[in-house]
Amino acid sequence: MARYVFITGGVVSSLGKGLASASLGALLQARGYSVRLRKLDPYLNVDPGTMSPFEHGEVFVTDDGAETDLDLGHYERFTGVAARQTDSVSSGRIYSNVLEKERRGDYLGKTIQVIPHVTNEIKDFLKIGEDEVDFMLCEIGGTVGDIEGLPFFEAIRQFAQERPRGQCIFVHLTLVPYIAASGELKTKPTQHSVKELRAIGIAPDVLLLRSDQEVPQKEREKIALFCNVRPDAVISAPDLKTIYEAPLAYHREGLDRAVLDAFQISPAPRPNLDRWSDVMDRLEHAEGEVRVAIVGKYTQLEDAYKSIAEALTHGGMANRTRVKADWIDAEIFEREDPAAYLEPFDAILVPGGFGERGTEGKIRAAQFARQKGVPYLGICLGMQMAVIEAARDLAGVADAGSEEFDHEAGKKRFTPVVYHLKEWVQGNHTVARKLTDDKGGTMRLGAYTAHLAPGSRVAEIYGTTEIEERHRHRYEVDLKYREKLEKCGLKFSGMSPDGRLPEIVEIPDHPWFIGVQFHPELKSKPFAPHPLFADFVRAAVEANRLV
Ligand code: GLN
Repeated sequence: MARYVFITGGVVSSLGKGLASASLGALLQARGYSVRLRKLDPYLNVDPGTMSPFEHGEVFVTDDGAETDLDLGHYERFTGVAARQTDSVSSGRIYSNVLEKERRGDYLGKTIQVIPHVTNEIKDFLKIGEDEVDFMLCEIGGTVGDIEGLPFFEAIRQFAQERPRGQCIFVHLTLVPYIAASGELKTKPTQHSVKELRAIGIAPDVLLLRSDQEVPQKEREKIALFCNVRPDAVISAPDLKTIYEAPLAYHREGLDRAVLDAFQISPAPRPNLDRWSDVMDRLEHAEGEVRVAIVGKYTQLEDAYKSIAEALTHGGMANRTRVKADWIDAEIFEREDPAAYLEPFDAILVPGGFGERGTEGKIRAAQFARQKGVPYLGICLGMQMAVIEAARDLAGVADAGSEEFDHEAGKKRFTPVVYHLKEWVQGNHTVARKLTDDKGGTMRLGAYTAHLAPGSRVAEIYGTTEIEERHRHRYEVDLKYREKLEKCGLKFSGMSPDGRLPEIVEIPDHPWFIGVQFHPELKSKPFAPHPLFADFVRAAVEANRLV
């Protein structure tokens, strides 16, 4: 049966609780344990699928088709363990399950209350898969004291109480601010935060002190004394140059040691941190730099394309080069010539997106890349825009467009080269959707197999002709235009196994031009860069050399 580590946060949000959890997962793995990471989010959305990326950052999609919090991306990138539906839950989902049961009459006429019905639902969620791993790491979103977080805190308190002694521990992450005027690090916010936690019955076993600098022993001892935590379990967690330093840094500060001590695991297996030393070596000893333009819509918030930014970094690591990514708002190209902006770049990436705004600009960016021989990677909407560009400019479909934009505008303006997909095959069954279906969770979601054309560039890059990648989209390139487009040099080099859905397009007669209907960025890891990103950056390095 798994041991449970509950990770909570205090003082302020955005301290890197997800990264701390992911790093702890990586460190336990380095000691030979199997781990699974989970996120429990207090908001009322059923999942983040319907939230704007401006609100919540990227939606991370799992193999089994869950639309989840971007922290699950960190978990996967740090541990390599593929997240599942059952690794992410929100208050919205919990309440919706409880209400469904109530309507069904499952509670046999009882009055439904937060305690015990909602907390039981949360505890049932925590138990899923508990026999499969050595450690289950569960992160609670938000900060202690938030009204909506209370049922989760109450549930983990009960859970630990019901388990045999020593099966659950609590790690609490707080902020230790530096006050420049007095030249001091302040411990009071941490004391208050722990007090809040203790008031609801949770005594932390380990404290992580986030700060812009190392927290000295004197302050750590003070916190240990006032917060009733052992001094060697009060861990300094200063800001780092790169997130990938976190596992080694936390190890140096003694996090994994403190966690294993709290479980009274002694002697602890020795850690093997070679994977992370290699990751750091690649980051620290990179030569040169390439510049990649990311032409997108949600450019003000970097978290909106978190996995793409990380996958580009991994691509750089594979080539031992630094990748500087610049975010450019696609709408600019609807007014101005893209050349003026895009010329300094070694490669262009058009990411996924929803809605019409900015799409004409993305089409112009794809055109620039195609005509000037600049490496181009189009992801999901970025592939659809590249196909529309080729249809308009090469295949003579002057008014080519996507049904998505006609649906949004409520009138027909385009020839739908990209159409609304209503039925497709998933494994052994057919999935059907209507345009009027709910917006949440009704896309083609999760991992699907694609067959790659032997001899194509993508088959060479992947080193295989069968791949599995994650999807999240409603619209699809229409095969009707395949022949026309292939005659003009845009090849359909990846298809769904039934041959009905185009998965990849490429221009063999171009230094590097690939569009993919899926999201390769979701599967890239620092220790296993995704082949498409590795080769895209390689092409950028080559383009850079030619200048
Ligand atoms: N909006 C497009 C679709 O639904 C693309 C989605 C995406 O880029 N993830 O098909």
